[in-house]
Amino acid sequence: MTPGLMQTTPLSTTSILTYAALNHGDREIVSRTLEGPVWRYDYAGLARRAEKLAKVLLDLEVKPGDRVATLAWNTHRHLELFYAVPGIGAVLHTVNPRLFEDQIRFILDHAGSTVLFFDASFAELVERLAPHLPALTTYVLLTDEAHGAPGTVGAMCYESLLADEDPGFDWPVVDENAGAVLCYTSGTTGDPKGVLYSHRSIVLHAMAGSLNSAFGFTAHDGILVCTSMFHATAWGLPFMAPLNGCKLILPCEKFDGASLHDLIVGEDVTFSGGVPTIWTMYLAYLAQTGARPGKLKTLIIGGSAVPRVMAQTFKQTYGVNVTQIWGMTETSPLGVTSTPTPALDALGDEARQEALWTKQGRLQFGIELKIVAEDGVECPRDGQTSGALMVRGPWVLRRYYRGAADVTDADGWFNTGDIATIDALGYMRITDRTKDVIKSGGEWISSIDIENIAVGCPGVKIAAVIGVAHPKWDERPVLVIELHAGETVTRQAVLDYLKPHIAKWWTPDDVIFGPVPLTATGKIDKKVLRDAYRDHLMGAG
Ligand code: ADP
Repeated sequence: MTPGLMQTTPLSTTSILTYAALNHGDREIVSRTLEGPVWRYDYAGLARRAEKLAKVLLDLEVKPGDRVATLAWNTHRHLELFYAVPGIGAVLHTVNPRLFEDQIRFILDHAGSTVLFFDASFAELVERLAPHLPALTTYVLLTDEAHGAPGTVGAMCYESLLADEDPGFDWPVVDENAGAVLCYTSGTTGDPKGVLYSHRSIVLHAMAGSLNSAFGFTAHDGILVCTSMFHATAWGLPFMAPLNGCKLILPCEKFDGASLHDLIVGEDVTFSGGVPTIWTMYLAYLAQTGARPGKLKTLIIGGSAVPRVMAQTFKQTYGVNVTQIWGMTETSPLGVTSTPTPALDALGDEARQEALWTKQGRLQFGIELKIVAEDGVECPRDGQTSGALMVRGPWVLRRYYRGAADVTDADGWFNTGDIATIDALGYMRITDRTKDVIKSGGEWISSIDIENIAVGCPGVKIAAVIGVAHPKWDERPVLVIELHAGETVTRQAVLDYLKPHIAKWWTPDDVIFGPVPLTATGKIDKKVLRDAYRDHLMGAG
């Protein structure tokens, strides 16, 4: 080999911070706070407070590689931790507070976190957890002196710690392959598993996500972060915004329609992203109030399938483009995003919208995708044949945290647990998660397809399709529907609505009206539904 003669500057999260402070220093960051007042500063201000925080961490004797946990909402203080903790070579361990308490305890224990920064909303939870977590010795409450109480854990006050330090810090050079952020999957099957992002994977992911073929950010954008910072780094947005000099808007814990609308209009938001349930609430708010979404131009929606009617309403009624993305904690999380190509445009408007609205997205540089049959042989890219979706790339997981072995195959492919098709133009469509697949009389029925159509039926808020044991067909689909408040819809109306759009044998055997439970990451909790309706059809002939 002839070695290349270029520099080997390590990629690091600190480089994003220092770049933004220098080149977009006066670009605003706006954060709601639990205490009430809206906090405003800019990237230069973020850098100053992150420097002070780095010194605090060193005073607390945090060493490179130590795990520093957070139980925190989307706020400027959480953002400061996003930079200060990896910046000193430690690992930021973001814990999802929506998980069950014993899962949170498991995660903190498994990660061996020694310091915990937490918002006041979680004070009682922390009191209950503390006796079970001997490794956790330092607690910091993310507030000021006027709003915090140390509790039995003796929590220190974040603002007081910062006030004791001067800005200015010589950030160390950290190996680009060092762990930076640790995030656990929600553990819908088995114990939660830790995914440890490196500095390198975070920076490459942020650069790829910023491309025009992905989110296409410019310094004119205002990004409202509606995905949780505790879940897969809020899709990398806290890194992409400074990388591009975008205004960054953080909603704290308030994701209801009215609160989001205040920020969208008041802060000139052009771009936001989140799971479909958040945007269902926002659309309902717009419909009820007759309000318009200000300068909002693009929404990225993912985490579960985007209902076609949602994308269509945003576009046709409000002029907002919806871009669907697919990803998972294990892919940092950005896997694919829906971008048009000339070849797609040539197929005409109808086909273009169909692809952009109902498919999860298109292969981008950096991530490789393939679908394979049960025998491991690659399936054709014909848009029809479905197979297990495999991914590979520099921001895809290789091994779970403290895992004994790599979870990729010999060629580095990671099995996502999703079932998908890929068409000739490279657009990928998720038909199911392996564990949610419905197999009726030996044939597959796509729960996502039926849900997507059912949610377009007037009055329907959330539609969930599950496979339920059936004496003759092994499994049959059952549709569970949660209605918008004050609506009445009959079983027959839903079935009539579905009829023209799906094959007859896909028709759900029953429609059940009731609340649809969501997981800690805002997805339909099919496990709970399957348990609840396990024997629902066993009396059927
Ligand atoms: P969890 O911890 O709940 O598994 P993840 O966010 O890692 O959380 O979940 C990733 C899964 O979410 C994917 O494997 C896929 O099943 C689902 N998912 C993500 N985006 C989409 C999408 N656009 N359409 C359909 N399913 C999606």
